[in-house]
Amino acid sequence: MATGRAAPKLARTSNAKPKRKAQPKATAKPPGKPKPAAKPRPKANAREQLARLAQALPEPRCELDHANAWQLLIATILSAQSTDARVNMVTPELFRRYPAPAALGAAELPEVERLIHSTGFFRNKAKAIVATSRAIAERHGGEVPRSLEALVELQGVARKTANVVLGTAYRLATGIVVDTHAGRVARRLGITREDDPAKVERDLCAIVPEAEWVDTGHRLVLHGRYVCRAQQPDCGCCPVQELCPSAEHVALGNVAERGERERARIAAARPAI
Ligand code: SF4
Repeated sequence: MATGRAAPKLARTSNAKPKRKAQPKATAKPPGKPKPAAKPRPKANAREQLARLAQALPEPRCELDHANAWQLLIATILSAQSTDARVNMVTPELFRRYPAPAALGAAELPEVERLIHSTGFFRNKAKAIVATSRAIAERHGGEVPRSLEALVELQGVARKTANVVLGTAYRLATGIVVDTHAGRVARRLGITREDDPAKVERDLCAIVPEAEWVDTGHRLVLHGRYVCRAQQPDCGCCPVQELCPSAEHVALGNVAERGERERARIAAARPAI
């Protein structure tokens, strides 16, 4: 018979099963030896890769339109965060209006800004090309200086721009031009592991003879722009395919045929080359 009182709770006896402790989940793979760091690629292989590129592009050219060192300097400053094709659209009118350093150095900023607007960052770029042109006219007799030290003193001119101008306009090898394309190709080929353009340049200069610095820079830029693209590199068409640790597809045709295809692609994009 029910009394209406709640029955007292029973205390746990020593026979009660203890709760099992949660076990750590088994990992998919037993811990093995730590992976050894990848060995740096032998220099001979990098030289072979670059020799293949040289075979494919024996006479690489800068894609910025220019008639002299000053025009190339101005075009290179304008190409920052833009494309060569875009810069080539604005420079004909810019150089028609201001045909020499003294003229651009004395130009009104709003007018220069209007002319170069589509290249982006137009206010800073207008200031830089006007100030640099004025400095060339007043301090260098209207001639672009032929030394890296003097060039990097000019407004808007850093090492990469100076290398482009000295190498392309004067054939002076002061370094290897490393832009976003050249850096990407050098990393994919395993020539460098660096992201910093100055360190990529250092690694390239260590394996490329000085006489080849200028052309090597242009080749890496063109190869990265037209074949070893950031998205969907065309490894099947690449003359370096068999020597590249990043190659994704089988090569189509022999090395000479792939080199021919690369040249044709560049020429089609840019008939002057
Ligand atoms: S094989 Fe592919 S990843 Fe390697 S350099 Fe050629 S295009 Fe670039």
